Amino acid sequence: MATSRDAGRLVVCATPIGNLGDVTLRVLDALRDADVTLAEDTRVTKRLFERYGIDTPLERFDEETARAKIPRVLERIAGGETVALVSDAGTPGISDPGSRLVAACVDAELPVEVLPGPSAVITALVASGLPTHAFYFGGFLPRKPGERERLFASLRDLDATLVFFESPRRLASALAAIASSMPGRRAAVARELTKVHAEVVRGTVEELADAFAGREVKGEVVVLVGPPTGESATASDEDLARAVEELVRAGMSRSDAVKNVARSRGVPKSRVYDAAHADMDAGTGETI
Ligand code: SAM
Repeated sequence: MATSRDAGRLVVCATPIGNLGDVTLRVLDALRDADVTLAEDTRVTKRLFERYGIDTPLERFDEETARAKIPRVLERIAGGETVALVSDAGTPGISDPGSRLVAACVDAELPVEVLPGPSAVITALVASGLPTHAFYFGGFLPRKPGERERLFASLRDLDATLVFFESPRRLASALAAIASSMPGRRAAVARELTKVHAEVVRGTVEELADAFAGREVKGEVVVLVGPPTGESATASDEDLARAVEELVRAGMSRSDAVKNVARSRGVPKSRVYDAAHADMDAGTGETI
């Protein structure tokens, strides 16, 4: 419980995106100590509470109720209460109504504490194997094909991995649109992360569009598109040569290593060959 009338604050608590074991000790303490927890779907949060024996009162705070509830939540915080905020999964404020409450607290100069933890964005980005030197998070893809295409056109030249949430029902059509707008890109679909049926499907956008065409997809999905290839910082000659050397040291033949690196980095084999060769000329001298 809050200990004094001026100690009120909003505590933003990241919760698991599937596996209930992925919750931090600080989040569990904060949820136990809060005067109230605001949750998108209280039934979803109840499962977390039951697993960890938490009995803090739960109140609904979702897309429908957020606007009407914010003034009262601000009053409660200003009056000294500690209000915890969770979403159905992951970090509140990322594509859910949490960001509005945080903004309202900031506007009202009320304290906000964020307890970090899982987010589908970062989990999918790292699992994809795509470059992480820069990424663009676009939230949910627009539903209207025209808007979606305009968005892709505006992002086409960005030297960053693109990360989008998408509904499983629209996944196939989104992948087809990505393939026609950004042909040849490396990409990934990350589905049901941290859950029993978790999968990360990687390939070119065309391969993924084929793989998901006509497939009934269930669960939660993140779509990722790698940056334009070529002379970007993500595929420097040094990087390519180093990647080949690592595979060779792990026991792969040099020609297979060149093939694998070319495929996984989405660059022509001849470029990887030249990079690895130049490196060898400068160094070890083994032939390909
Ligand atoms: N705030 C959350 C976060 O930080 O991860 C995201 C909330 S957003 C309303 C829900 C979307 O996140 C889903 O439609 C899906 O795109 C993605 N997502 C959530 N959990 C996921 C999971 N286990 N695997 C893949 N995607 C997931």
